[in-house]
Amino acid sequence: MKSADQIGLVQGDITQQETEAIANAANSKLAGGGGVDGAIHRAGGPQIMAELKANYPQGCPTGQAVITSGGRLKARYVLHAVGPVYSGRPKDAQLLASAYRSCLSLCSQHGIRTVAFPSISTGVYRYPVEEAASLALHTVTDYLTTHPEIALVRFVLFDTNTYAAYHHVLARLQTL
Ligand code: ADP
Repeated sequence: MKSADQIGLVQGDITQQETEAIANAANSKLAGGGGVDGAIHRAGGPQIMAELKANYPQGCPTGQAVITSGGRLKARYVLHAVGPVYSGRPKDAQLLASAYRSCLSLCSQHGIRTVAFPSISTGVYRYPVEEAASLALHTVTDYLTTHPEIALVRFVLFDTNTYAAYHHVLARLQTL
């Protein structure tokens, strides 16, 4: 099986996912914010923020990720990834790829076999969605090629445009 076949796409709300882990698009202070971060903290309850404050008081550098429980979510874990604020410089792509890889590496370390991702950095952080979709899907595909312990990566895209951008890239990857 090609690794792109282990990637799924749905349009929807990531807080409702039943994958073992969901990823969050966090900020480097892990301080809570709007967008998907706000939705995850609202749905998961105060336990998630309490764990972040206790375990990562220094925050998380851009391009990396930390793990907490899922609080009241159906998912057992939340992976708090910090993507870059888009600047138009080459390092944006490195940092965004690294944020996805850090989440996947946490999955491997914690025995997490199914994980859902939002479109990191394409909201308030303004990363162009076509570029971000290509980078996210290629980075995940590459990782899965060498990490058979992960069975499913599902992207949960909130709006029609974002879903269409990811669908366009994934359709090509799956026919390669
Ligand atoms: P960033 O600061 O990394 O850009 P945002 O939360 O602003 O993060 O946006 C990232 C993406 O998450 C956007 O496409 C936004 O529409 C989407 N999003 C917002 N709420 C949800 C949700 N509940 N489930 C999935 N995606 C969401």
